[in-house]
Amino acid sequence: MSSTSRITLNRLALANNLAFLRTVIGDHAIFSSVVKSNAYGHGIEHFVPLVEACGIDHFSVFSLEEARRVKHVCAPETRIMIMGHVDDEDLHWVIQQGIEFYVFAPHRLRETLRVCRELGSRARVHLELETGLHRTGLEEDELPGILELLLGNPELVEVAGTCTHFAGAEVVSNYYRIQNQIRAFHERVRWLRDGGLDCGLLHAACSAAIFNYPETILDMVRVGIAQYGMWSSQETRIRYLQRGDREGVTRSPDPLRRVLRWSSGVMDIKEVAEGEYISYGYSYLSSRSMRIASVPVGYAQGYKREISNQGHVLIRGGRAPVVGVINMNMMLVDITDIPDVTIGDEVVLIGMQGDIEISVSSFSDMVHNLNYETLVGLPAETERLVVDRPLPARRNGL
Ligand SMILES: *Cc1c(COP(=O)(O)O)cnc(C)c1O
Repeated sequence: MSSTSRITLNRLALANNLAFLRTVIGDHAIFSSVVKSNAYGHGIEHFVPLVEACGIDHFSVFSLEEARRVKHVCAPETRIMIMGHVDDEDLHWVIQQGIEFYVFAPHRLRETLRVCRELGSRARVHLELETGLHRTGLEEDELPGILELLLGNPELVEVAGTCTHFAGAEVVSNYYRIQNQIRAFHERVRWLRDGGLDCGLLHAACSAAIFNYPETILDMVRVGIAQYGMWSSQETRIRYLQRGDREGVTRSPDPLRRVLRWSSGVMDIKEVAEGEYISYGYSYLSSRSMRIASVPVGYAQGYKREISNQGHVLIRGGRAPVVGVINMNMMLVDITDIPDVTIGDEVVLIGMQGDIEISVSSFSDMVHNLNYETLVGLPAETERLVVDRPLPARRNGL
């Protein structure tokens, strides 16, 4: 192992998730795989080819740098869409490469037209409509100007799509806000079409929306967290199962499988007598004579300091509590109750070992993080491997 821990991606879990998500979105919608933030910590270079091998040919990223990395590993005909930031000076490259990008404000369209004129090329853009998130997106009163520019320059800009993003589709408390957004989106698309514009592919749904607002599955969906095998929220999972109950269909309680597993190894083992403090400071006092294993992963590797004295890792199919504070590059775990642990034994930080699992959610809950935050905190430099690990039997509850 060149790094002190490794992340494995389970190809079978990904194939399972993509097949399941296809049943959720139906046959017609294009599936855009959202791989921003290093594919949610999974690693763009490893993850993108796996998704492509399952027949997906559209990827969404946030930044130019991510688009560059996807482009480097994807098939030439695969489409890439930048949903976020591009510096004006980088528009040349983006347009020349045929990469699609969001027009979220009038200045972006004006600059795009200027660059296209200069290059003699045509850009493929997605109009992002502001419908209630109040983050980025074209405001209603900006649409007449946008329409005029687009209709006047069809040879410079192709509208590949028109889209919006919801203000939290994963919790029911946002219900009315989302309903208003859905209504506003369709009204504005109608207005643009009535004005003579071909709006291209309509897309609005993220992972949570494909489950909670299936009417928002339009021509394309942008799915991130679910393809990695996680729910946007527990509520989304429960609502999905409840709907099945109401409709009298039996649904698997665990249709999504975690793609990622994060593991390391036992670096050293020490005997510590009763009444000694372990790790820095005074936060952990041994209450008996203990065996302590060191694991070469710390907060510099994304193992959050808040997990000090709270978390568990898996060794030899047993749960070993984290004792003392997490260090920059190391943590200590109590292996007193796990027999026969030896140096080099595998240590699972996230994922399954034997029958037990440290889930991303349990890990996140401990530090009041979203699953998203935990995943993107995983170190980019850690070695990644693709494996085919048979999926464990389906379970009740998570
Ligand atoms: C991140 C993101 C998504 C995907 O969200 P998930 O909840 O991970 O499915 C979709 N659309 C936009 C604009 C995003 O930024």
